[in-house]
Amino acid sequence: MQPILQIDSRACQTCARCVARQVCKPRAIVQLEPGDLPIVDATRCRSCMACIPACPFGAVRRADRERLAPAV
Ligand code: SF4
Ligand code: SF4
Repeated sequence: MQPILQIDSRACQTCARCVARQVCKPRAIVQLEPGDLPIVDATRCRSCMACIPACPFGAVRRADRERLAPAV
């Protein structure tokens, strides 16, 4: 399943505690270790979009609206 949300690895600051993850009630944003790049678990995401404004670096993006450039 393609996640509707993606985390842009270029914009993400790999915060010790991901704020976007903290606002996600169904726990769809997974950060395996503090400081890791978070990922979105599409099987849990309810598309509430709460995580988009929560990230202070604008790293959470709608995957269906914006194609992310490949990481270099
Ligand atoms: S998605 Fe945003 S809040 Fe979460 S680790 Fe990346 S920059 Fe920090
Ligand atoms: S859209 Fe809602 S459910 Fe999905 S990852 Fe963001 S906060 Fe979690």
